[in-house]
Amino acid sequence: SAGAAGAASSQRVRVVLRLRPFLPLEAGSAAAPPCVTVIGGRPGSEVTVQLKDPRTSRSKCYKLDAFFGHEDRVRDIFDKEISAVIPGIFEGVNATVFACGATGSGKTYTMQGTEDLPGLIPLAVSTVLKLGIGTSCSLEISYYEVYMGRCQRSGRCYDLLEPKDTEIMALDDQDGNLQLKGLAWVPVRSMEEFQEVYSKGEQRRNVSHTDLNDVSSRSHAVLSIRVNNDAVTGKLNLIDLAGNEDKTCNEGIRSSLFVLSNVISALKNNESRIPYRDSKLTRILQDSLGGNSRAVMIACLESYIQQYLEFLNVASKEE
Ligand code: ADP
Ligand code: MG
Repeated sequence: SAGAAGAASSQRVRVVLRLRPFLPLEAGSAAAPPCVTVIGGRPGSEVTVQLKDPRTSRSKCYKLDAFFGHEDRVRDIFDKEISAVIPGIFEGVNATVFACGATGSGKTYTMQGTEDLPGLIPLAVSTVLKLGIGTSCSLEISYYEVYMGRCQRSGRCYDLLEPKDTEIMALDDQDGNLQLKGLAWVPVRSMEEFQEVYSKGEQRRNVSHTDLNDVSSRSHAVLSIRVNNDAVTGKLNLIDLAGNEDKTCNEGIRSSLFVLSNVISALKNNESRIPYRDSKLTRILQDSLGGNSRAVMIACLESYIQQYLEFLNVASKEE
């Protein structure tokens, strides 16, 4: 609705919860007591969500900017949360949309989608292409993955569109603008062109990992859309974050997700110090988080398991 889109466009940082439905394999779990209860609010508007830990029966409440449940489609998330930030890209207002949650919670389904149901990435690209028709704007994309090293600030960034031996470096140029040195930007003029470039990047992402099952828990995947409109450039990052499992062996991933949640939390609370430089991931995203930029965090959850919820600590809690 217009009201929801209005709220989404006036808020610089939004935190929304995405609860995925049961999968056919999980049908038996439907009998398990639900861990998630939506206490207040209408779909698409601010809500309080209560999450109960089935092991301890303790519950905690979180206030979120919006909640998307079983009946909501990715398209609904796009319409209510993402479509409002797209016109800004044409005016140089950067934005970042990211999906976080444990492996299996629906991050890739939300960002990438399936063959039949496009996710936020193809929906955003097609919207940008449509808005650019008949204008002098051009669209380019980049696609890279960020691996995290063992110490917080280390981490490597690899190009998935034009792989090179050297890694991508985050540097400030003379004007103080963030540059990702070595990153390829590939022009895209149609959805067909986009699909071709993107699927090649996806294939590279998969073969670069020796253990296929672990692809999504080892690195963050960043798809960036850049719009060049006369002298103005705007960027939208769409990120499928590494899974934030309870006991991942990768400390680097854990700490990068922790820093990202600290950044989002500091932005949401209008704090003066935003800890961008505490991790490579947030450093790379610095020009597209905070300041004039827009950020949407989509916390993905399965319906029946109490998952690792550290991420939700960015949402203000109520006792
Ligand atoms: P993640 O990327 O977080 O590991 P996936 O996106 O791969 O999780 O989702 C895990 C499984 O759940 C996949 O089989 C996916 O198709 C399915 N799934 C996720 N979200 C939904 C949804 N909203 N509706 C139907 N199936 C979903
Ligand atoms: Mg995934």
